[in-house]
Amino acid sequence: MENTATMETLALYDKYVMHTYPRADILFVRGEGTKLWDAEGNEYLDLASGIAVCSLGHAHPAITAAIREQSEKLLHVSNLYMNEQQPRLAQKLIENGFDGVCFFCNSGAEANEALIKLARKWGSEKGKFEIIAMNDSFHGRTLATLAATGRSKYRKGFQPDMPGFKFVDFNDLEAIKAAVTDQTAAVLLEPVQGEGGIIPADLEYLKALRAFCDEKDILLLFDEVQCGMGRLGTLFAWQSFGVQPDALSMAKALANGVPMGAMICQRKLQDVLTPGTHASTFGGTPFASAVAATVIDTILKDNLLENCRVQGDFLREGLQKLAEKHPMVKGVRGKGLMVGAILDEPAGPVLAILRSKGVIALSAGETVLRLVPALTISREDCEKALALIDEALTVREAERA
Ligand SMILES: *Cc1c(COP(=O)(O)O)cnc(C)c1O
Repeated sequence: MENTATMETLALYDKYVMHTYPRADILFVRGEGTKLWDAEGNEYLDLASGIAVCSLGHAHPAITAAIREQSEKLLHVSNLYMNEQQPRLAQKLIENGFDGVCFFCNSGAEANEALIKLARKWGSEKGKFEIIAMNDSFHGRTLATLAATGRSKYRKGFQPDMPGFKFVDFNDLEAIKAAVTDQTAAVLLEPVQGEGGIIPADLEYLKALRAFCDEKDILLLFDEVQCGMGRLGTLFAWQSFGVQPDALSMAKALANGVPMGAMICQRKLQDVLTPGTHASTFGGTPFASAVAATVIDTILKDNLLENCRVQGDFLREGLQKLAEKHPMVKGVRGKGLMVGAILDEPAGPVLAILRSKGVIALSAGETVLRLVPALTISREDCEKALALIDEALTVREAERA
C-alpha cells in the first residue's frame, strides 16, 4: 500500500477509533451500483452491499434525489409532532404486507428490542415473559438482543445475560414444544438465519410453528433485519413462506444505508405499547422515512423482486456447478439474493483472495461464503462474480495442496 491517503487514514483509525471490528485495510471512497472504488483507484465488484444494507446499490439516483429533496426541507422534528413522511412510509409498509402498525427506530438491535418489549408487555398481564430463540441466531449487540442471540461467543464477557430467553435448535418444532411453558410469551426467529450461515427455515416447520403458536397463545416474532426488504425476492421475508408472524423487525436495507429500523405488528397488537411505554428520539425522522419510502417505490417500480429471484437462482446454480469442480465447496443454500456456499474451512482465506481479485464478499457462520449483492445486480455481474469465485477457489486449493 503506497497510497499515503490510505496510510494516513489507517493510522488515524488505529489511534482514535475503538478496535471493535476486524477490518481489512481497504479505504473505500466511492460507489456506483455494484461497483466500489478505493482511495488507490482500484475497482471492486460489491457482493456484500455493506452487510445487506445498500440493496439498491451505491449512489442510486432515486435515493440521492430523495436525500437531497428531503434534506432541503426538514431533517428532523420530534415524535411529539407529526411529520409528513413517517405515516406515508408506514402506509406503504402495511399496504404491501399485513394489516397493522409500525414503530420506527434506527437499527436492527433497536427493532428487536421493540419486538422483545412488545412481547413482554403483551405477556405481562398473562404472566408470560419468556422468549424462545434459536441456536445460531443473531439479533444484535445490545444487552437484550445479545441475550436473545444463540451464539455464546457474542455474549462472552458480558454476563450475566438478561434473563427470560431459552434456546432451541432451528428448524426443530419438537424442541420448541418441549421448551414451552405457561410463561412462554413468544418464539423469535430469522426466516433465513443470516450471521448463523444463510440457513433458511423449512416451510413445513414454519407452517406448523404458526399453528402451534396460535394454539398455545404465543406470539410468533420474525427478525427480518437481514432477510427482509426484498432480499428473498418478496418485500417481506414472511411472504416467501406465506407464514405471517404476529410482529417483525426490519432495519439494514430499509433506507438503503440511511440508518433506520422498524417494528411492525398485527392490528390486534396495536395498543400493546401505549403512549409513554416506548420511544426513540431519531425514530422515523422525515429524512429517513422519505428515503425508505423511495426504496420501496424503487423496488416495486423497477421490478427488483423479480430480478432478485432470477439472479439469486442463477448464482446458486452457478455455485452448485463450482461445488462439483471444487471439493472444498460442500454445498450451496439460501433464498433470493441471500446466497451461501458452505466451505470445508473458515471463509477468511477465500475472502482475502477474492479481495485481491477485486471482489467484496462476506462470511457467515464459521465456514460459509456469503453473497448479499444489491437487488439491482445484472446477469453480467453475476457471471463475473462466479468466474472470480472459481478462480479464488482454484488459488486457495493450490495454496492448501
Ligand atoms: C444485522 C442484524 C441485526 C442487528 O442489526 P444492527 O443494525 O447492527 O443493530 C439483527 N438481526 C439480524 C438478523 C441481523 O442480520
